[in-house]
Order: sequence, then C-alpha cells, then structure tokens
Amino acid sequence: MQTDLTQFIQEKVNALHNHWKSSLKDIFGRLNLLGDDPAVFTELRGLLMDLVAMVERSESVEQAVDAELASIVFHLKALQTNQGLSSTEMVLLLFAMRDSIRKAIQEIVDHGIEGQHWVSAHFQVASQVSLLLNRLGLVFFEGSMRLKEQGVGQDVMAIEYALLYERTRQAAITDRLTGLYNFGYFLERLKEERMRAERYHRLLSLILFDIDHFKKYNDTNGHPAGNEVLKKIAAIIKEGAREVDIVARYGGEEMVIVLPETSRRRAMELADRIRVRIFETKFEHMESQPQGKITISAGVATFPVDAVNEEELIKMADNSLYKAKSKGRNLVVAYDPAVKIPIRYKSHREISKVALVGNFNNWDKDVDLMERQPDGSFQFVIALNPGVYHYKFVVNDVEWIPDPACPERVHDTLGGDNSVLRVHV
Ligand code: GH3
Ligand code: MG
Ligand code: MG
Repeated sequence: MQTDLTQFIQEKVNALHNHWKSSLKDIFGRLNLLGDDPAVFTELRGLLMDLVAMVERSESVEQAVDAELASIVFHLKALQTNQGLSSTEMVLLLFAMRDSIRKAIQEIVDHGIEGQHWVSAHFQVASQVSLLLNRLGLVFFEGSMRLKEQGVGQDVMAIEYALLYERTRQAAITDRLTGLYNFGYFLERLKEERMRAERYHRLLSLILFDIDHFKKYNDTNGHPAGNEVLKKIAAIIKEGAREVDIVARYGGEEMVIVLPETSRRRAMELADRIRVRIFETKFEHMESQPQGKITISAGVATFPVDAVNEEELIKMADNSLYKAKSKGRNLVVAYDPAVKIPIRYKSHREISKVALVGNFNNWDKDVDLMERQPDGSFQFVIALNPGVYHYKFVVNDVEWIPDPACPERVHDTLGGDNSVLRVHV
C-alpha cells in the first residue's frame, strides 16, 4: 500500500536528501556537545537504572509499560526542558543510550570470559530494556511529528528517514497474511539463538506446527476461508508463546516457534497447550473437517540433545511432525533419540529425593526426578544422541554433587564440578 509519505519521498528524493544532510549535521553538532556533558549522562544512567528495575519487577515489557512508563516520560520531559532539547534530540539521545547498552553487552560477549555467566543471566533484561528505550524514543518521535504538523521543528526529516527505514525492515521480516515473522527472519534468528545456546551451554527448542487435513478445508470451503483459519491459528500460537520466543510462518500452513533456554519437556508442554487451545476453538465451517474440528500437529526437537546445528534441528522437528501425522494427527511428538542410558545414584545415607541435572535438561532440579529402587538407590533412564554431556545430582533439593562413580570431571563457570557423560552409538 502506498502511503502519502512514501509517495512524497519518492517524488522529492533530492530535496529530501539535502534537508536530511543539513538537519543531521545540525543535530549532530548539538548532540556532540551533549555527549560531553556529564550531567546529561548522569540523567540517562538514572533512567537506565529505573528501566532495569522496572523490567525486573514486571513479567513482561507490556506490563512494565502499562504500569510505569508514564512517570518515566514525565522525568524525561523535565530533562528535555532543563536542557532545552528538541524532541528529535531526545529521540536520538534515547536511541544512543539503547545502542550503547547493546554495544557494551556485545563487548562483554566478545571478550569477557568472566562476564559470560553474567551476560547470559542478564541478556533478557538487557534486551527488554533496549526495547523500552526504543519505545521511549518513539514517544518523543510522536511529539516531534505533532510539532511538525503545527509548523514547528525543522529537524524532523532525519527521524522520518530513520522511521521509514525501521518500517521497511519490519515489512521485510513480517509475513503479510499472518503478521508472524517470515521464513527468512526465522532462519536468521534460529542461527543466532543456536550460536548463543552453544556458547553458553543452554538449551534451545523448536516446535514445528502443521494444520491437519488443511487441503480438504480449502477444497471444501475455498482459499479465503482457509486464510482466515490460518490467521486465527497464527494468533493463537503467538499468544501461547512467551515474549522471548520467535514465532514465524515456516511455509504454507506450517508455523514454527523458536524457544530459547527451553528443554524438550517444556517445549512439549507449550506445544500441547497450543494444540488443545486450537482443538477447543470454534472455526467457521469446521464441521466439514474429518473430526468436525480444526486440529494441528506438532513436532519438537531440542538443541544440543537432538541435533548439532540448526539444519539438523529443523530436520528432527520435521521428522517428529511426520510421526505425529502418522500416529493419527492432533498430536505433539518430540524427537526420540535411539540411545537410552540408565543412570544410577546410590548414597550410604538416608535421602528422600534425587534429581538429575545437566546440559540435557537445562539444570532444572524440578524436572527429571529419579525413581527410588527397592535397594534404596535412585534410577533414571535418559534418551540422548551420541555426544558429550555434563551432569550432576541434586540431593534433597539442596546438595549438588557429581557422580561418585564417574571418574571424569569438568568445571563449570560457577566453580562447580560436573561429571562427564559420553554417549556412543
Ligand atoms: P496433513 O497436514 O494433515 O497431512 O494434510 P494437509 O491436507 O494439511 O496436507 P499438507 O500439509 O501437505 O497440505 C497443505 C495444504 O495447505 C495445501 C494448501 O491447500 C493449504 N495451504 C498452504 N498454504 C496456504 C495458504 O496460504 N492459504 C490457504 N488458504 N491454504 C494454504
Ligand atoms: Mg503442510
Ligand atoms: Mg497440513
């Protein structure tokens, strides 16, 4: 769709370019001075601390925005008045702060061995804070647009340009029908997340969804009706996912969720919640489907337990999806590795509970509890692909100990000892 603004820009490229250059020069001249002003930096650092506290208090960015953003905008407006800044300058200051926090983190990721644990633990908060800074920037951008409508404010052009760029980028990564991310962006992010999971020894899960008997629905009710179903299902999947998850349209009627820091078990739970929600949703003409319902099947796979790279991860999720289809549809199936290994723990003293934690289950002591055997030992069978895994036991919820029977050890970044499990074919 052509907006007035796009048309205007297409027609007046040269004039725009000149305006843009001179307004940028002007703004950056003034911003340079502000960059050297410690008082402005102190104010922005204060803002940053407030945003971090806000994100840590709230469940999501949305909640943080609803609750407290107004008061932060109020403080920023005071800063704007005190420093005599234009709205455009405020936008750029906020964006500069956003970029500097991203850069600072990237530097620690690139160079700081010691900082790695810190980064992985705070990565989510930091990225939510940069989202908030982005949003605050847009609040001031809107202010600056209003001034332009009133005939004030010469330097709006640069921002329009930046915003246009953002919009173009947004369009380039979004699927038009469903509003989810498109396949290209999915691949890009999957690769990024896989590299991050590998670097920090975290888990990464993938869920691949495919609508059941969708061809029949289209054939009976027409393509437009099918599109409505697709949109509704996309919305249900998006709503079921967490804010940090990446939800994309994988292909025709296939959708995918990338779940950072998520074990196979958690991914299956989420996929199944979505499956049930779709099963319970009323769709137009659903009585024409084989079960009188619109249903969906899903395949789950987890890095690094099921795959060594993203291509393989997709393949494993696709294999699982295929199994879900052949088992009768309206099902979630996870990749099931062929190698099953029994793990046993025996203590000389009385204990009530043992959990196995390792880089195959994201160090979560509330899952994978081991079963008590008649001889007092604890046992658990895990299914893993060939590879090297680190693990230890959590005894009675508190004590973390490596496997006494396993001679090989590695240290983790927290100074603890882990047993090494080597899985062969
Ligand atoms: P099943 O997955 O249960 O094995 O059966 P299916 O009939 O859904 O088979 P498959 O997944 O291979 O079929 C995909 C069908 O989805 C083909 C096409 O009719 C429909 N489809 C794909 N993309 C779109 C789309 O963008 N809009 C609509 N309306 N239909 C689509
Ligand atoms: Mg399909
Ligand atoms: Mg299908």
